[in-house]
Amino acid sequence: MMHLYNSLSKQKEEFIPLDPNHIKFYSCGPTVYNKIHIGNARAFIAADLLSKVLKGLYPKVTYVSNITDIDDKIIEASKRENLSIKDLTKKYFDIYMEDIGLIGINPPDIQPFATNFIKEMIAYIEKLIRLEKAYEVNGNVLFRVSVFKNYGCLSGRIIEEQKHGKRVEVESYKENENDFILWKPSNEKEPGWNSPWGFGRPGWHLECSVMSEITLDIPFDIHGGGNDLKFPHHENEIAQTCACNGLDNATDFAKYWFHNGFLNLEDEKMSKSLGNVIYIKDLLNEYQGNHVRLALLSTQYRQPIPWSKKLLDQAKSISKKINSFLEKYEYVESKFVKNTKIADALLDDLNTPKAIRIMQDLVQSATFDPNEVATYKYIFEGSNQDVSIDDITVQEIEKLIAERNAARNAGDYALADKIRAKLSKMNVSIKDVGGKTEWKI
Ligand code: AMP
Ligand code: ZN
Repeated sequence: MMHLYNSLSKQKEEFIPLDPNHIKFYSCGPTVYNKIHIGNARAFIAADLLSKVLKGLYPKVTYVSNITDIDDKIIEASKRENLSIKDLTKKYFDIYMEDIGLIGINPPDIQPFATNFIKEMIAYIEKLIRLEKAYEVNGNVLFRVSVFKNYGCLSGRIIEEQKHGKRVEVESYKENENDFILWKPSNEKEPGWNSPWGFGRPGWHLECSVMSEITLDIPFDIHGGGNDLKFPHHENEIAQTCACNGLDNATDFAKYWFHNGFLNLEDEKMSKSLGNVIYIKDLLNEYQGNHVRLALLSTQYRQPIPWSKKLLDQAKSISKKINSFLEKYEYVESKFVKNTKIADALLDDLNTPKAIRIMQDLVQSATFDPNEVATYKYIFEGSNQDVSIDDITVQEIEKLIAERNAARNAGDYALADKIRAKLSKMNVSIKDVGGKTEWKI
């Protein structure tokens, strides 16, 4: 039985699935306007870890993580990089897929792109207006927060009072300062779609309410994201979903709320806006993907990670010791085995540091236990992370490219992306030109 901390009840709870035959998990994905940094990777690895444990326990798990491909930051970046919104978001989506692959994160089962759901978002807003839970002012549509009496149930906050030390100015068109944007007008230079309220685009919070309901149905089991998403993003998602469906409680939307702690650099949250970011590829000259993976998993997902070179060096040394022990047991298939000590540590709110310590103890005492080894491999060894760049041959590269193209032709994009990530780890970049794939190191 798994225990998971629920940010909604603020306690560790036994995880009781809504339907043990099909577990449903939604976690907020990236806004694709820039490369993901190692802080973002922490959020994605936490969601990946949870999905892997769930998949080890239950026969069917659907893990959905969205791609935000319309947003003001994307519009700014497209001007800065002189790329169309489509080309910019494609570029950073591909980099995201490659980067997560480098540290053994599997692609989510479903990755809905916001711009593929505009029609559904418009219909959702229309319903909210019909129910008098949203109102239009000059091409803006706002959610009327006062209609949802449990607003604040997740974060304990109701007002975004302080932003960078200044009080946020209340836009004159708002009935109430808590009301948030569902739709806003676009000028002719900005991307937009025709709607009953004119040419415009959706607010950020809306996409997750709409896409989680379409892909998973509500209620679903677990909704996740970084701690910073509790407010306002998840609070607003809860308000929208409950208001639109006539529900009172956040649990009618998702039963468990899963949030990861921050990765910090010198006591400050790593974030694009603060400019203190480290990218995954920056680390890969000195460390392998599985060292970075172990460094990220050496802290339990809810605790802050003080990121440092020391942490990485420790992870590298632990990883090397464990891997040289595991080399002898290559034949052991990576698999989640219940009732092992490692599995039990993971079932206790994903206690990865404890699971690593158990493996270290087995290495220390030279104790071989195939079930512990299988479970360790399943969680801590992402696929394809140990490729040594010295070992590459042209034949190998061409073989991988052929495998990738075969996977693409067969519609298996997840596998194709995995192979592309493997090539990238080998410092091989590929480009599809006129039906052929070119590569260079
Ligand atoms: P964004 O692309 O900014 O929406 O962020 C994607 C995910 O990364 C969200 O779940 C954020 O909460 C999470 N995130 C951003 N910065 C950090 C950080 N420094 N540590 C942990 N998670 C983070
Ligand atoms: Zn979201």
